Amino acid sequence: MTGTSQDADAVEHRRLIVAGSGIAGLTAAIYAARSNNEPLVFEGDEPGGQLTLTTEVDNYPGFPEGISGPELVTNMKEQAKRFGAEIRHGILVDVDDSDRPFRVELKNGDVYTADALIAASGASARTLGVPGEDELMGYGLSTCATCDGAFFRDEEMLVVGGGDAAMEEASFLTKFASTVHIVHRREEFRAEDYWIDRTMEKVENGEIEIMRNTEMTELHGTPEQGVDHVTLVRHPEGHPTEKLSDPASADEVEEFDFDVGAVFYAIGHTPNTEYLKGTGVEMDDEGYIRTKGGSGGGQTATDVDGLFGAGDVVDYHYQQAITAGGMGSKAAIDADDYLEEIERVAATAEPAAAESDD
Ligand SMILES: Cc1cc2nc3c(=O)[nH]c(=O)nc-3n(C[C@H](O)[C@H](O)[C@H](O)COP(=O)(O)OP(=O)(O)OC[C@H]3O[C@@H](n4cnc5c(N)ncnc54)[C@H](O)[C@@H]3O)c2cc1C
Repeated sequence: MTGTSQDADAVEHRRLIVAGSGIAGLTAAIYAARSNNEPLVFEGDEPGGQLTLTTEVDNYPGFPEGISGPELVTNMKEQAKRFGAEIRHGILVDVDDSDRPFRVELKNGDVYTADALIAASGASARTLGVPGEDELMGYGLSTCATCDGAFFRDEEMLVVGGGDAAMEEASFLTKFASTVHIVHRREEFRAEDYWIDRTMEKVENGEIEIMRNTEMTELHGTPEQGVDHVTLVRHPEGHPTEKLSDPASADEVEEFDFDVGAVFYAIGHTPNTEYLKGTGVEMDDEGYIRTKGGSGGGQTATDVDGLFGAGDVVDYHYQQAITAGGMGSKAAIDADDYLEEIERVAATAEPAAAESDD
């Protein structure tokens, strides 16, 4: 299919563009390349996606001894390239869906056009930005309890957060931890009653301890030895780090060190969907893409014909490599069906147009 006025400034037209080189995007690329859809994958600002942040992936099927996140991603890239997928640096900043082909603009100003798009741009775990975080991410600090909890058996574990995710992750971690400590910056939890009740049962059993009105301000340790301890601050009225910068209440902030073997952030994720803001893609309040779902074909379709969603950018609940990969394969199959259909329609329209010209 060739473009219209939309592609006047385009450097290149592609049949299929995939936004994101995480597990969802790369799986989509493998499937799309094998269907001769010549996918072009843009890597975004985190080539390989979230799995590159973890040293060991033990639950991805097919690797009985586990595999490192970066190695798994590299293998997938090689597999996608073997079938003809192209992977390039580039961050999507805008998609114009007002006409076909889509007009896709990158951060560096380059413009591409595409007949179909797969949004596999993931969700970024929120972090605190405290000292020690960058060095220890993947070495005792994690944003995924389901993924990494089992690596820290019998250790003291700290969960940062006060919503449903924090309660759920803390409950899950009790399977492994000697004790799980929840650090929450306010007195009240944001979590639903269900999760608060489950957490309180575990508090009564001595499996979880809660530190309210407390925040973590620093992580201490080394990549070789992992997390050794953290610095915490507490104020009786909550939000202690804010009080620290207020001379009237700074004296009341108590600062102390706390020994832990692992720290888990459970303060939410931000879906990477900024570049889709001007399109007709429906999103929820947090910016996660809504897809058709259900059963049968077209489960990854969005409200915009030809634009499909896959992986953590759609799925705020499971957020696992295997589930992201599964959705990536579905998106590639849905995109293939769509591309075949527009070709079929174009082929039937051409003879009709030729007849009317006679
Ligand atoms: C520390 C950690 C450990 C984990 N361990 C495990 C584990 O052991 N097992 C497991 O199953 N899961 C694990 N997970 C979860 C797993 O990594 C995710 O569920 C999975 O990576 C989601 O894949 P995705 O492709 O949907 O998104 P992501 O991995 O988030 O990839 C998103 C991709 O989109 C790109 N992107 C973003 N914005 C744009 C844009 N505007 N334009 C172009 N590209 C863009 C990014 O650069 C990235 O390449 C872990 C997660 C973390 C954070």
